[in-house]
Amino acid sequence: MKIVLQNLTKVFPSRNKKSNEEVVAVNNFNFEIPDGKLIGLLGPSGCGKSTTLYMISGLQKPSSGKIFFGDDDVTELSTENRGIGLVFQNYALYPHLTVKQNILFPLQNLKGKDKLDKDTMLKRAEEAARLVQIDQLLDRKPSELSGGQQQRVAIARALVKMPRVLLLDEPLSNLDARLRLQTREEIRRIQKETGITTVFVTHDQEEAMSISDMIVVMKSGVVQQIGKPQDVYDDPANLFVAKFLGTPPINVFSGLVKDGTLYIGSDAVMEIPDVADQDVIVGIRPEGFILSDTGALICKPVNVEVMGRDVSIVTTHEASLNPLVRSIVNADNRLAVTGEHVRYDIKPHKIFIFNKKTEERIHFMR
Ligand code: ADP
Ligand code: MG
Repeated sequence: MKIVLQNLTKVFPSRNKKSNEEVVAVNNFNFEIPDGKLIGLLGPSGCGKSTTLYMISGLQKPSSGKIFFGDDDVTELSTENRGIGLVFQNYALYPHLTVKQNILFPLQNLKGKDKLDKDTMLKRAEEAARLVQIDQLLDRKPSELSGGQQQRVAIARALVKMPRVLLLDEPLSNLDARLRLQTREEIRRIQKETGITTVFVTHDQEEAMSISDMIVVMKSGVVQQIGKPQDVYDDPANLFVAKFLGTPPINVFSGLVKDGTLYIGSDAVMEIPDVADQDVIVGIRPEGFILSDTGALICKPVNVEVMGRDVSIVTTHEASLNPLVRSIVNADNRLAVTGEHVRYDIKPHKIFIFNKKTEERIHFMR
């Protein structure tokens, strides 16, 4: 089921009685979510992710704009009638019910023509439990489960009604690092097996990048960029997106374009004949540095961190906008970093420049 968001906007009245300032939580969101895909809705806290998800679910009404499931306009439809499965950060299971009863619960509440007989309900519940691999735990109470298992029950409960759309709001936030990794792969597997169109909300870029078919990066209610994770990483639309994706994060410098040359501080790092003279912000991905005795970018070494296969060389540079410049190079290079300076050549497809005022990307011939 494809989902179409059309000029979707949500304005909240001011919470503060004195000021009348409204909060535009979601500002004119347009996107056609393709059928059967997993979309990662990504951005910092407060950027409007949950509000977007709640509007898709029907829990919140848009201030303006429309939502379609397939060709059906569902904007005015109640949550119960949208055919969605919802999973939140806190699992919200019923503590006095067993796992099986928790999963059955949404089916027992079906009314009229949707009502199911007992056997069908049981079969559906068992199927959902098997899908999330908790079929051994059906008779336990939630308090007898780990966090990861509880979250699986919540996912099974969302799946049991065979939703047209699965909506997940930071579903892994309460899990420890290892479980988070494992459960996100589970979610991906389940999503692929069922083919349910899924919107996955997270503030964790790595999480979104690793499981999404496409990511939507939001900031202050405004969509910044939509695309395949690798494409957005390789071709960020603006400084915000460039900084939000990637660990370690992109290195940023103040730079200058003059007579077709890009300068970082006094280092002439690259020829860019097609860009007009101006002050710019320069971003270089950590993997974009090549150690070289004749390298154009000259940094002062601080530290070398060995990370197994790779090493991270930590340096400073007078034009860096962060205290430290961090490169990632192959571990074989470790011995090269001994002198007073570290010199780098820059891989052309790993360096981006941005307009200093608007922070929009400036494209140049590579
Ligand atoms: P996210 O999920 O990305 O952290 P939210 O969608 O929850 O962000 O919130 C977006 C913005 O809308 C925030 O500024 C938040 O304070 C505001 N907001 C969310 N819900 C309400 C509400 N019910 N009333 C007023 N403001 C709200
Ligand atoms: Mg939220």
